Amino acid sequence: MTIDVPLSSLLAPRPRQNAIASMPMSALRRNVIEGLRAGRPQIGPQTVHIDVTNACNAACTTCWDHSPLLNVPRSGAWKGQRMPRPVFQGIVDDLVAMGSVRHLIVSGMGEPLVHPEIYAMLASAKAAGWELTVMTNLVAADMDRLVDSGVDRLLVGVQGVTPATHAAFHPGWSEREFFRLCNHLRRASRAGIATRHVQVINRDLAPEVPAMVRFGHRFGADRVNFKLASLSAGTEACMITPQQRAWLLDEGVPAARALADELGVTTTLDLFERQLLAGLDGDTPETTTPIADVGCFMGYAYTRITVQGEVLYCCNTNVQVGTLADGPVSQLWYGERWQALRDRLRAGNYLPGCERCGKFEQNVKWSARLREAEGAARWRAATGHADVGRDENEHGATGLDLAERTAPGHGVGDDAVHTFNTNDAIDAIDAIDAIDAWEADE
Ligand code: SF4
Repeated sequence: MTIDVPLSSLLAPRPRQNAIASMPMSALRRNVIEGLRAGRPQIGPQTVHIDVTNACNAACTTCWDHSPLLNVPRSGAWKGQRMPRPVFQGIVDDLVAMGSVRHLIVSGMGEPLVHPEIYAMLASAKAAGWELTVMTNLVAADMDRLVDSGVDRLLVGVQGVTPATHAAFHPGWSEREFFRLCNHLRRASRAGIATRHVQVINRDLAPEVPAMVRFGHRFGADRVNFKLASLSAGTEACMITPQQRAWLLDEGVPAARALADELGVTTTLDLFERQLLAGLDGDTPETTTPIADVGCFMGYAYTRITVQGEVLYCCNTNVQVGTLADGPVSQLWYGERWQALRDRLRAGNYLPGCERCGKFEQNVKWSARLREAEGAARWRAATGHADVGRDENEHGATGLDLAERTAPGHGVGDDAVHTFNTNDAIDAIDAIDAIDAWEADE
């Protein structure tokens, strides 16, 4: 297929790049903070995410595009779209000229490693001198070529640490894909590629949260990212149950944290806990992020470009700032549409989907950086809290503490905590014995 992106549109004026290209990261961040203070970016994005294909080798139950649970499935034509290599190269060249980019994420609304030219595309991105991350389920990888591409980090959607749960999360897959994943994880670790595990927690995976830490340790993960599944359009059917939420808050997350401390595994369990609590405090259980307590900063640091050439404000596909047919990223970034969204979010006026913000971790980091560099008053001005009297703690969080929020009468009660079958979690840890058997056969 082809996509309607004239290459001539990638050749527009590029402001102030040369001085920016040689800035160290600390200076880039100072420029971002200045932009946040001014309400307008002083430099271009530091992280850019490019989707290279909509095709996927999996059908994750939580997926916004490929889940069999979706009320309205994506069309076959949509799923067949992929970014031609010259378009990818045109974007890379434009971003190089912007000077501000330091990190490229290659992904897809499908699986990037099924793109027939992916390894050449990765090599050309590496030639730009950026840190390169690939988001992948890793099952389709040609590991020799992936290692040779020079990729710095793999963000691997692991999704389950036993053959049974991995298959439950990926309908149509069996233990064959699970052990291929194990094989590839081991290979990436031995090749010295930083490998970060992503575990999207839905009702099939909730009991395995502590076991996911052990799995991460076993396969040399440099971090285990826990994300509460962001669900809509039919995929809510696989949401964690209220009992699981209570068990995770009361037992699962503390057990995982203790195990992570014991094994020296870095995790995002603190953020995950905030996500679990957001579902208690938000308007609906689908809420996964207390975004109003944090703020949105992505308009100063990040953008995502889809296979169709849509340029997005963040990973939320509903928040579009234009298309490559309108102009290159270097032009759109400083345009009115992008700025209008920055102004809107700066006023705390969030959009549908922001209650499930996929850039929550990054927003938390920028929120803390801004507060530390500029103080609480300027943080409030940049997050729409200027006129609101709030009972904030030093981290910007509001409201009840963990004990109060999980107490009886606040959505989940003691009964719910104790009726959850904790044997499920114990079984999940024991089931890693299956990996022992696989390793013995290797
Ligand atoms: S989902 Fe909303 S809050 Fe999150 S990065 Fe996008 S615009 Fe910002």
